[in-house]
Amino acid sequence: MAEEQKNLIETDIVIIGGGAAGFFTAINLAEQRPDLRILIVEKTLLLLAKVQISGGGRCNVTHACFDPQKLTSYYPRGHKELLGPFHIFNTNHTIEWFKKRNIELKTEADGRMFPVSNTSETIVQCFLQEAQKQNIRIEKKFEVQEIRNLNHKTYEIEGRYAIVRAKAVVLAAGGHAKESQLEYLKTLNLEIVPPVPSLFTFNLPQHPITQLMGLSVAETEIKILETKDVFRGPLLITHWGLSGPAVLKLSAFAARKLHDLEYRYTVRVNWCLEYNEESIRQVLMQIKSEYAYKKANQKPSFAAHLPQRLWEYMLQSAEIKDGDTWQNINNKQMGILSKSLCAMDIPAQGKTTFKEEFVTCGGIKGKEIDFKTMQLKKHPGIFVAGEIINIDGITGGFNFQAAWTTAYIAAKGMADTL
Ligand SMILES: Cc1cc2nc3c(=O)[nH]c(=O)nc-3n(C[C@H](O)[C@H](O)[C@H](O)COP(=O)(O)OP(=O)(O)OC[C@H]3O[C@@H](n4cnc5c(N)ncnc54)[C@H](O)[C@@H]3O)c2cc1C
Repeated sequence: MAEEQKNLIETDIVIIGGGAAGFFTAINLAEQRPDLRILIVEKTLLLLAKVQISGGGRCNVTHACFDPQKLTSYYPRGHKELLGPFHIFNTNHTIEWFKKRNIELKTEADGRMFPVSNTSETIVQCFLQEAQKQNIRIEKKFEVQEIRNLNHKTYEIEGRYAIVRAKAVVLAAGGHAKESQLEYLKTLNLEIVPPVPSLFTFNLPQHPITQLMGLSVAETEIKILETKDVFRGPLLITHWGLSGPAVLKLSAFAARKLHDLEYRYTVRVNWCLEYNEESIRQVLMQIKSEYAYKKANQKPSFAAHLPQRLWEYMLQSAEIKDGDTWQNINNKQMGILSKSLCAMDIPAQGKTTFKEEFVTCGGIKGKEIDFKTMQLKKHPGIFVAGEIINIDGITGGFNFQAAWTTAYIAAKGMADTL
């Protein structure tokens, strides 16, 4: 369709993306500046699709972490940039924001915060009703293909059937799986960090340990040998590999390095945190001398926290047979058992999405943005919010918190400057 045939829509603010950050920006701006005409354009037919399915349908809105500095530590990318913004809008503000709209949040034992209703529908309906109340216009099936900065005062965004002309633009189009999907930003000449996935579990194709699926150990240390990244936490063995909080954290902090390794790497697990390979060997030697006639398949006290099947798996790996007593175990077997306990090396290959939840590591580089207003330094009338920025957090409500914070600041930035 030729450009002249396209509809021209004039507005004050156009927000690209009808997701978490887009709606939060629109509602906050409308409250501060009811005089401005606000339009959200969304490429699909669905509004707030990720909010709807988030947190297993319950929406993990934020995390009970109230210190801005500590909060930043949950972001593998963006921790420096978010410190200032978190002093302006943090978890406390999120809780207040929803409370003001009659939505109470509750905190679970691990710090994740959900609506008391236990359904993401509460959050989706809140946003939709607020948007309606504030007369925010929404155009669905509007995929932005190009953005033009006409004169640093007027901007145009172009979709397939229409062109929108506005005084300011908000980029809130979320994470993009491929760099090619960010083509519409090309005219802005921004530095983009190529996107790669974050938040995934580790695949161990055909590894015998996967036969122990369903087992978990509450305290482990997991290290990726190639990247040296290391975290402590519960570890879960699944039918495809390894999962659990420590694995997800590693996948986030090492997201780019693991991508560069084409997801082939070695995971080293310490199942007995108080020991290392050397010290556990000494403990084993002592057991051998003190309990020579005791069967090895009866777990020693230091291994009390390990599931019996895992202990037996380690014995089998050292070729220690079912009825063997400690006196039967030779030095080589002792070495293999010590390594299994404190430095078990498991080759990983590939990744699996965690409960369909993922975020993008990558996006618009932080240095392009003035984090006091969320404006692009090169294009002062263009604001950014949410996952489109090279900021992402680990699982637990941190990604939405970054979306609320950046959206709130973008709204304030526009309210103050336009
Ligand atoms: C299954 C799942 C569960 C999750 N659960 C949680 C959770 O419980 N807690 C948490 O903190 N985080 C969670 N996350 C992450 C969180 O959903 C995102 O970080 C958050 O939605 C980012 O908000 P956003 O507005 O930046 O992007 P999005 O919510 O993705 O919204 C962006 C919108 O822009 C639209 N768009 C894209 N390109 C264009 C274009 N060219 N033109 C017009 N529109 C466009 C998209 O269609 C989309 O609707 C989850 C993610 C997934 C996938």
